[in-house]
Amino acid sequence: MKKRMENEIEVVFEDVQENEVNYLFKIIQKHPKLLLNYIPQKISFIDSIEDYTYFPNVFILLNYIAHSILSSTKKITLEDQEALYYQLLIAWYDEDEEYKKSSEEDQETIFFITAIEYYRNNLEGFLQYLKCPEDYKEELIEFLKNNTRVMVYNHLLEAFRSKINENDHSLEIIKSFQKNQEEVLEGFQKRDYTKIPLTKCSKEFIDVLFKDFLTEMDPKLEYLLLYEIAKMNGKIHWDDVNLEPEQIDSETIRSTNEMRLQSNGTIHDFRVLAHEFGHYLSNCSKNFVFAYSEFPAIFFEEEGNLYLKRKGFPSDEINRMRQSRINNLLKKYLIWMNIYHHMLYQEKIGNISEESSEEEIDRNTLNMISYGSKLLYTAPYLIGYYLTSKLEEREDRKAWMKNNLLRINTMTPQELENELKTKKIYEKE
Ligand SMILES: [Zn+2]
Repeated sequence: MKKRMENEIEVVFEDVQENEVNYLFKIIQKHPKLLLNYIPQKISFIDSIEDYTYFPNVFILLNYIAHSILSSTKKITLEDQEALYYQLLIAWYDEDEEYKKSSEEDQETIFFITAIEYYRNNLEGFLQYLKCPEDYKEELIEFLKNNTRVMVYNHLLEAFRSKINENDHSLEIIKSFQKNQEEVLEGFQKRDYTKIPLTKCSKEFIDVLFKDFLTEMDPKLEYLLLYEIAKMNGKIHWDDVNLEPEQIDSETIRSTNEMRLQSNGTIHDFRVLAHEFGHYLSNCSKNFVFAYSEFPAIFFEEEGNLYLKRKGFPSDEINRMRQSRINNLLKKYLIWMNIYHHMLYQEKIGNISEESSEEEIDRNTLNMISYGSKLLYTAPYLIGYYLTSKLEEREDRKAWMKNNLLRINTMTPQELENELKTKKIYEKE
């Protein structure tokens, strides 16, 4: 007689049953969280022993477990299935490798629960599944998808909508600028500058250059003072990276107003600083409107480009820096528009229905999950470029931005457009 103990399960068996018992523990290892609830703690395959539950062999035990799971689990609700499908998609399509690894166990659980539902009236099928889950994964994913596709999609659309509309009317604002978004993108489709090398610059040089730029932007030197204060208060963090401009990803955290800037040691650092400093200044506004959130930052960035041009930096380098952002926007624009139309439909009319194209829903679902909030940021950038191009027609544009920086978020799109085009238009350079 042999005895084996693992996961607090104790099994006694005859020598000849060793392989069967190994097989049993392998299945337990695969689904520990779920199976342990249904397996008696003390099992005997030999005979009736006191305190031990007797099973003639391992397969009868498995049959018993499958039977108890199938009969006791309450019917899995649609909400559960939705959550499962969603988790599964994230686990499978998230680009982050580490996340994929950490969620392997979750995936097993998802498949296991799905299998219970799928094999509800098919004990034999469920036992087959337990023996070799890998062979049935595709079948189960199809089942899960077909049961939850439309529901998950509407759920994601709703989550995106509420993210966009958080405390403001951004979806409406984006809608009123929709035509202009296409106009902006058309203006950008020029030649490819991605191979142009950028001038190397030290941090000290960028600092001196930026201070000079701020002095031009605001001769009263208030910007300059705010920049020095930000440095003094540790609000500017540079992170040295070995990345091309197209890959650089900097941000200003709204709650703490800290700038997290990626530096690749070129003139591109100046652009990064100009953009994030625009966020830094506008973050002092009490109101926040998602749709306008990139306007001041893009304005500072574009003014920075004009400044660099005046200082004699090669225009090809400046074009490359602009293009690095636009290429990203272009790539995401079509994806975004498709989802955006469904978001508007959901808001005005109601949920996307079962009759919609499965292919389209699957594609949008995956895009929403894999791009996440990055997709949402397409619109504010395009609005930012559009408003900046309007503002640049005004001679007093720098003073306008300074006076209105904290007011922008209180204006409707109509007010903003009227304000930008009305006064002090000058001859273009
Ligand atoms: Zn930004």
